[in-house]
Amino acid sequence: MKPLLQRVLDTLLPPGCLACDAPVDDDGQFCLSCFRVANFVSAPMCVQCGVPLPHGGLAGEGGLCPHCAARPPAFTQARAALRYDETAKKLILPFKYADRTEMARGLARLMRRPGALMLTAADVLVPVPLHKARLRARRYNQAALLARELARLSGRRCVPDGLIRQKHTVALEGLNVAQRQAELAGAIVLRPGFEVAGLHVLVIDDVMTSGTTAGACAHALLAAGARRVDVLTAARVADPRFE
Ligand SMILES: [Zn+2]
Ligand SMILES: [Zn+2]
Repeated sequence: MKPLLQRVLDTLLPPGCLACDAPVDDDGQFCLSCFRVANFVSAPMCVQCGVPLPHGGLAGEGGLCPHCAARPPAFTQARAALRYDETAKKLILPFKYADRTEMARGLARLMRRPGALMLTAADVLVPVPLHKARLRARRYNQAALLARELARLSGRRCVPDGLIRQKHTVALEGLNVAQRQAELAGAIVLRPGFEVAGLHVLVIDDVMTSGTTAGACAHALLAAGARRVDVLTAARVADPRFE
């Protein structure tokens, strides 16, 4: 049974589906028709970077995708709630670019299931940072909103400004892995005073593409003494080479 105030608010502002605003029982849910088309990331996937694999045979020894087998990322594990397809874009793009900041709540709820083990084990949650010029233009860091909401739901500590993007990097789309890594080299650092020695850190972002940005965050955190770094995102771009 929900608290009275919540029930009163629900009648005034009935909860809407995350993707289409159709009425649903509770905030942060899909209506039935959106749920049917929502593409949740499920096994088989790479045990390390979480990229969806079309069949288990693509995973090599230890369950790794070919990329992780050839060049292991700095983070231990990455997981995501949704495949980044048309349905996921309907959620992520308004959240990221159109001030729909209230969607953080529903997205964070979707992230709780794939991130359950990471959230239980993590000492601290930290979002992938935006450069301050981009933050000024957008007025909010969507990754920080997700990190705050996940911290609230899981009772974890969140340090929204723990990582800093000190270089205004170009968009990574269209660059290959080596170019992405070169573009990001040294771009992400820890805020002075953010102590992570011995800690298990969970990095939060909205979308993971190649994992280069998450890898750069993990690299900075591990260099500062973090014990382990995991990554949890709302959506994951599938690798077209594995589809
Ligand atoms: Zn819907
Ligand atoms: Zn992988």
